[in-house]
Amino acid sequence: MLDDEIKKIIKKCSRCALCMQNCPIYEIKKDENNTSRGLICKLNGYNNNELSEKEIKKDLKICLNCSKCKSNCPSGIDTSLIFAYKNATLNPSKFSQRILLSIKLLPIKFLYFINIFKKHKKNPLKSNVLYFKGCIAKAQHKTTYLDNIFYNPDFACCGLPYLTSGDLKNYNKVKEKNTKLIKEANMVIFDCASCKSAVMEYEGLSQEDKKKLVFLYDLDKKFKLKENSKYKNKTITFHKPCHMDKKDFEQIEKFLSSIENINYKRLNDIDKCCGFGGSYFVFHPIISTKIALKKAKDIKNTKADLILTACPSCTFGLRYNQLISFNFKKTLELRDFIDKELIAK
Ligand code: SF4
Ligand code: SF4
Repeated sequence: MLDDEIKKIIKKCSRCALCMQNCPIYEIKKDENNTSRGLICKLNGYNNNELSEKEIKKDLKICLNCSKCKSNCPSGIDTSLIFAYKNATLNPSKFSQRILLSIKLLPIKFLYFINIFKKHKKNPLKSNVLYFKGCIAKAQHKTTYLDNIFYNPDFACCGLPYLTSGDLKNYNKVKEKNTKLIKEANMVIFDCASCKSAVMEYEGLSQEDKKKLVFLYDLDKKFKLKENSKYKNKTITFHKPCHMDKKDFEQIEKFLSSIENINYKRLNDIDKCCGFGGSYFVFHPIISTKIALKKAKDIKNTKADLILTACPSCTFGLRYNQLISFNFKKTLELRDFIDKELIAK
């Protein structure tokens, strides 16, 4: 994204304020300066030399990069992307970028380290249907059920950690590698909602290419619980990751509701963020915990025995959530729930 493109996007903002309605930061701070509209106005001020670089940088860092504002914006502006690009290009300090990136990648590196001797099996059959395996599953050397069905050509990271820490060089590198693989494929299956949404934003992909990107697989088929499943007649709920597409969420909800002998309960406000936001928790622990407490209350109200989601960052967030609300229930990735607890009917 170039500065000129950003200026054009900023001009598209009608200042309608609809983006404030579901901004998790606004919900906590009640300060318009921290919303999408407020930050766009400030960026405009910066472009007109009315605000200093230091001031605007400080403001941009408060954004969770959750993209929730995009879903309410009549102009379809993805402000989180603009803020991430702007953060990366405003007099970037290589040192702070490195620190931020190291913090974001720390859990992944730790998982690689403790699973160093584990080997995961990959489907040896090459095909044009590819599996885009998320970084955490890769770091755990986990063989998921999708490894047994699809070919995994070792995609690079989706790029989100690089983009949000301002490392545009590596972001462009992984984007190029993944774009090439996607263009040659017939279909690409994702197991993480955030990876899918990051890849959907690659400028090199056409609308046709984007139609090939699919979240999980077989969600339209009927499944039942395995005989020995401990979740028989139990209640489950699903946390929708902020970056999850509405259509994908609807399909998941339909799928979970169709499983026999299990009670699916929808969370009160499905669009509420878990508050974790990758490394956001590290730099803004108070705001992050306040958001998490609201989510924790909603989860507790469902009385669910199992909490599902589809993003490793949310999985960490939900576990933290349960810790601070003394609601020690299991949290699983949807992919692992399908693999461990269900069989096709
Ligand atoms: S990306 Fe999320 S936190 Fe940032 S302005 Fe939009 S809704 Fe608010
Ligand atoms: S919803 Fe979109 S158009 Fe309206 S103020 Fe927010 S960013 Fe601007």
